[in-house]
This record gives sequence, structure tokens and C-alpha cells, in this order.
Amino acid sequence: MIIENVHIAPVVGPEIESGHIRIEGDRIVSLGAGPAPEGDGDRIDGTGCLATPGLVNTHHHLYQWASQGLAQDATLFEWLVALYQVWAAMDAEVVHGAASAGLGWLALSGCTTSSDHHYVFPTGRGDLFAAEVEAAREIGLRFHPARGSMDRGKSQGGLPPDVVVEKLDDILTATQEAIDTYHDPSFSSKLRVAVAPCSPFSVSAELMTESASQARAAGVRLHTHLAETLDEDEHCVEQFGMRPVDYMEKLGWLGPDVWFAHAVHLSDGDIDKFAATGTGSAHCPSSNGRLGAGIARVSEMLARGANVGLGVDGNASSELTTMAGEMRQALLFQRARYGPTALTARQALEIATLGGARNLGRQDELGSIEVGKLADLALWRVDGAFGSAVADPVCQLVFGTSQPPLARLLVGGETVVEDDELRTVSQDAVGRAGADARDRLLRTAEELGFSAAKEVHS
Ligand SMILES: [Zn+2]
Repeated sequence: MIIENVHIAPVVGPEIESGHIRIEGDRIVSLGAGPAPEGDGDRIDGTGCLATPGLVNTHHHLYQWASQGLAQDATLFEWLVALYQVWAAMDAEVVHGAASAGLGWLALSGCTTSSDHHYVFPTGRGDLFAAEVEAAREIGLRFHPARGSMDRGKSQGGLPPDVVVEKLDDILTATQEAIDTYHDPSFSSKLRVAVAPCSPFSVSAELMTESASQARAAGVRLHTHLAETLDEDEHCVEQFGMRPVDYMEKLGWLGPDVWFAHAVHLSDGDIDKFAATGTGSAHCPSSNGRLGAGIARVSEMLARGANVGLGVDGNASSELTTMAGEMRQALLFQRARYGPTALTARQALEIATLGGARNLGRQDELGSIEVGKLADLALWRVDGAFGSAVADPVCQLVFGTSQPPLARLLVGGETVVEDDELRTVSQDAVGRAGADARDRLLRTAEELGFSAAKEVHS
């Protein structure tokens, strides 16, 4: 396949105003200025389009598609306490519907690789992990599901009610099973599993250290929430006698195989530790804004050499958030805090692509348009009647409130989206599946007598 006459923003290397990209199989085999040399293959005319690497989402909870719009004015801890019991009512059908809609939504905003952090596994409600893996296969995105867990319920000093936590041994067994069944370490892999106990306030120290050993023995990555709110800071100081990053360091959780969600409340020393150890973070600006959690020090983290990727976070705390839109949120929040040079449009594009690839340990395969990398590309139509008034296509993509039309989304050279329409599945069907998942989840929560389900409606 050859894409021609296209403005290429490769993230690594110089931009090309009108050039071509040649794809063979699932890889990029050449790119350059001007038209492609003669040759076989489908030719896509990219006139009026901007080509970027596919966006990489490094923090999500897909099941939350089914609980959007609830507890709208709550802090993180209030929001969690309201929603834990609703989530306890989920089953495999809810997860499949929610993941289908959530991943379809991400694809439509230029995302080619998504992680997911699933940490609520009520007993006897089907194989929830398999349900989201199946949804990702159907949509056609590269998928990095993280087997999450919670073992520290209220009776142990944790935040979640005991009804939604699991036993440590059961967690380790199920996590190993997920790795053995699904993890594919190959270069072109469309599915890699990570190990992801939920957060310091819902997980025991023992589960954190056991999870790290398990992940390192299996050669998979580690992920958790960290330093999201000041309440978490307080909780850690009270219960463990130290702040979140120090606690994770003590548990062996800093390193190049670890990426944390949020990392909002970091000291200078914390940032330096991230940089020195190669620990990554997933910046989730919409969710942090929605919950009033604070703003991560992204521009300082980048300046000090710490890797930052982007994440939309679960849709229950960032309703209908898109990957393309998170570039804008990241840019505006940093500028609001630090001034107009804090983050450029191209830096925002870089953290949304290569920064994300680094979080997932895939910087050699994904995150930039380079020869030898996987052909995961987004083609944005920037010559629209309104959009073409913006001189710089990357500025149009990142600064605009609404994203430019998505002419094509390729994952490993395969078309997933064409002209703003999913091609791998019926777009209407996956949208409806998401709304049906919400109905089923809220109905079941009420049937099970979880009072929170009613409270959060209001
Ligand atoms: Zn999260």
C-alpha cells in the first residue's frame, strides 16, 4: 500500500509537506518527499491529509463506559465509594458491550493501540478479561489489557467495600492465567498483558511486591494508579508513613518496566527518580480536571527526562473523552499552569504517540512514522471548508476543539476507520452495545440491592 501527496508529521525526523509512505505487510518500508516511485499496491491519495502515527492510549478502564455521567461533582474518593458497588454488578456481557463501544470510540479519534486497566472481578459473573480481549479483536486495535486487582477492602484499612476485593492467591492465579493465555511478546503483537494491582489505597503491600515478582518473572509490564490526589498522599502518609512514590520505591516498583497512571502530585525528587529509573507515567488531563485532582507537572517531567504518555482514563471520570482531544487538554492545562511555551502542539503529539509507546515498552515498534516500524497510522483530513483556514495542520489537529475528520486509520496496514466510520464492525451496533451495557449494569445493581446505584442517579 502507498499513501501519497500527504503531509507527514512523523514525530521522529523532519516533517514532510508533501510526501509518501509505502507499507508492505504490517510494516512501513519507506517514506520520503514527493510521489512514490512506481510499484505495485493500492495507492491512497492523501491530498489534503495529515499523516501522524496512530495515537497510543496508556490508561483506561473500558468497563466504565457503562457508568458514565454518575457522581458528577465528587472527589476521587467520593466517586469511587459511590461507584464500587455499581461496578460489583458487572458481568461479561456488560464488559463486552462497554469495551466494544469504548474501543470503537478511541479508534474514531485516531487511537491504534490502547491499554486497559481492569481491576473489578466480582465472583461468578463470567470471564470479564476474555470479554474485553474479544471486543478488541473485533474492533481491530492493538490491545494491552492489564489484569488489575484489589485485595485491601475496608476491613483491612482500604477504601473499597469488601464485596469488590479478591483474595491474594486467587489474584495471582488469575493473573498468571491471563498472561499464559493471551500475552504475545512478538514484534507485531496485537495483544500484550500487563500486571496492574489497582492503587496503594486498595491493594496490600504484599500484593504489590508479589505482582512485581510475577510480572518480572513473566517478562510483562507493571502498571498502577499513583499520586492522583492529595487524599491519596494523606492516606499513604497515615498508613505507610511515607508519600506514594517513596512507598512504591520501597516495594520495588520503580523501573523501566513500570508506568503509573496520573502521577499528579510529584515532588522534584519524585520526578528525578522517575527519570533516573525510566519509570513512565500516563497523563490523564480530562479525568484529573473532572475530579478536581490537580494538574500533573508534565512540562517539568519532560524537561527533566521523565517519560510521559497520555491516557483518556475510564469514561466514568472523563465522559466521552477522545484521544485526539487529550492532546489539546494536555497542552492547555500545561500552558494555563506554566505559560504559552510549556507544551507545543508537536510535543503534545509526541506524548500521545511515542510517549505512549515508551510506556508500553514498544518504542521500537510503535509511536512514530519510521522505516521498519508497524504501519499504525492516522490520516486526518485538514483541507475541510472550516479547518483549512488554519495554516499549520498539526496546529489544526491539536489546538482545535473538535478533531479534523479521520480519513483513514490503519493498524498494521489494515483499515479500521475510513471517512469517520468504523469498517471492522458496525458502528451503530457497537454504540448501541455500550448503551445496552449501561442499562444492564444499572438494572443489575438495583436488583442486587446496591443502594449506591440509586444515589448516583440523582
Ligand atoms: Zn484510572
